[in-house]
Amino acid sequence: MKFHVLTLFPEMIENGLRTSITGRALEKGLLSLDTVNIRDFAGNKHGKVDDYPYGGGAGMVMQAEPVYAAHQYVTARAGRPLRTVYLTPQGRTFHQEMAEEFAKEEELVLLCGHYEGIDERVLEEIVTDFVSIGDYVLTGGELPAMVMIDTISRLVEGVLNNETSAEFESFHDSLLEYPQYSRPEVWRGKAVPPVLLSGHHGNVEKWRREQSIRRTAKWRPDLLEKADLTDKEKELLKKEKESLKGEEKWDSIGEKNLKNWLRM
Ligand code: SAM
Repeated sequence: MKFHVLTLFPEMIENGLRTSITGRALEKGLLSLDTVNIRDFAGNKHGKVDDYPYGGGAGMVMQAEPVYAAHQYVTARAGRPLRTVYLTPQGRTFHQEMAEEFAKEEELVLLCGHYEGIDERVLEEIVTDFVSIGDYVLTGGELPAMVMIDTISRLVEGVLNNETSAEFESFHDSLLEYPQYSRPEVWRGKAVPPVLLSGHHGNVEKWRREQSIRRTAKWRPDLLEKADLTDKEKELLKKEKESLKGEEKWDSIGEKNLKNWLRM
């Protein structure tokens, strides 16, 4: 899959993605990354691409023409219109299903804003999808673009060593993943759940599925509406919900640790 990133800071994208799993996938040619510096299309010798907002107000706005010219450059090379995402806090919030949908594309353009954003007129011309990575405001679209590329890349065949590992992760099937353990068997007095050492594949699977349901009921009950559960699992969920009734809303592991530290 090929990602074209239109940005004022290509080095951020290159440094972020040419490492670890995405870096290896780029080296192997499973992914391709094309960073395009919008400043190269400034049309003036100072490389200036921003100006004051009409109507006044704080900050600067990225001008329409350099963004348009950079986009034209990419689509002309592709020889066809490309799905183009503008990363913006005003967009639809990114989630796993969206990543699965984007992973079907052969090429994707990601447009990163900076300062106060981008002149609306060019967005109307070139953008097909407006995507946010959450309800908070960052200084630029580069980190959000990397979040999207990383998430989508994991779904591209061959990028993960173990083909099944993306299949059983959190959000797949509208459930969070079960807890994971590795060596040693006992760490600071805490033992690994015995079923995981039993070598009984069926029991391990059953335990993991139950843990997924329990964990989702506790931390992300909103997800369960879409989960596909058997009658037996629905029964388990009912019991779990009953037992959770008395608990505080945010009683996660992190919250418990925080309370312990504060007591120390
Ligand atoms: N003035 C804009 C607003 O209120 O909607 C915010 C501009 S923000 C400071 C600069 C750039 O960061 C945006 O153009 C966008 O590309 C990116 N950005 C900031 N927060 C984001 C988020 N939550 N998701 C995706 N992109 C974001």
